[in-house]
Amino acid sequence: MIQDIAPHRYENTYQKKKIEEEDFILYYEKNQVLLAKKEGMLTFPTWKEIKEAGAEEEETQYIFAIDEHAFFLLNGMGVKESETFQFYDLTVFRTLEPMWKAFAGITGSQFDRWYKARRYCGCCGKKMHKSEKERTMVCPECKNIEYPKISPAVIVAVTNGNRLLLSRYARGGYRNYALIAGFAEVGETLEDTVRREVMEEVGLKVKNIRYYKSQPWSFSDSLLVGFFAELDGDDTITLEEEELAEAVWFEREEIPEGPNKISLTHEMIEQFRSQNKSETSITI
Ligand SMILES: [Zn+2]
Repeated sequence: MIQDIAPHRYENTYQKKKIEEEDFILYYEKNQVLLAKKEGMLTFPTWKEIKEAGAEEEETQYIFAIDEHAFFLLNGMGVKESETFQFYDLTVFRTLEPMWKAFAGITGSQFDRWYKARRYCGCCGKKMHKSEKERTMVCPECKNIEYPKISPAVIVAVTNGNRLLLSRYARGGYRNYALIAGFAEVGETLEDTVRREVMEEVGLKVKNIRYYKSQPWSFSDSLLVGFFAELDGDDTITLEEEELAEAVWFEREEIPEGPNKISLTHEMIEQFRSQNKSETSITI
């Protein structure tokens, strides 16, 4: 999965760090990221390179490090494309190698969206300030505090003996088979979300809901929480056509290959596929 970057280490303790010439710069505009092509590989520009292009140190903000590589957001506007730097759609991080750079790039985009969306206080409209103590935005007028936006969502692998339920989204760019998924609502436990989403999207009841793993998924500012659940009763699918184009029970041996190894969905499908046919429950 995209966050599985070992032996590299993601270090996200909040701290104030002075920027140095070899630190990486994350610069985003309109769902695009500025990257440099070096020796045939895409990578992030360094502060030395961006400084030479005219950026000011006051416009940078330390966000995290991976191993000894510190990453800074650049808040200033107007870095131009050049022979060295070009903008790429954020979907580039679905396939960028090495994966620790893909993880850094997409994670940085979540911070960037949050900082940009919290420039003004939602309560009183005054300009927000960055806290000196923690990763929050604070209103100097009404003291409103805003924390980074992370939306919890469930991924559910619904099983029925040797069969797994796969679905295809009706909208958006992703056209491959996926698992049932949806955001948690206010007042719900994650188990409630699992039951509600499965009922809403395919009209099925589930039982024996078991946590599998979680995944930070910055493509949608979410924290995905994976569950396996067994069908409870009738297996007749009633499709929610607003959300899904298709939902199908697949025998384990007939599950199609997924293209994308970075996602929790992919790992859960493979986990089910690799199980022995005679096993009735998932071993975690
Ligand atoms: Zn305020």
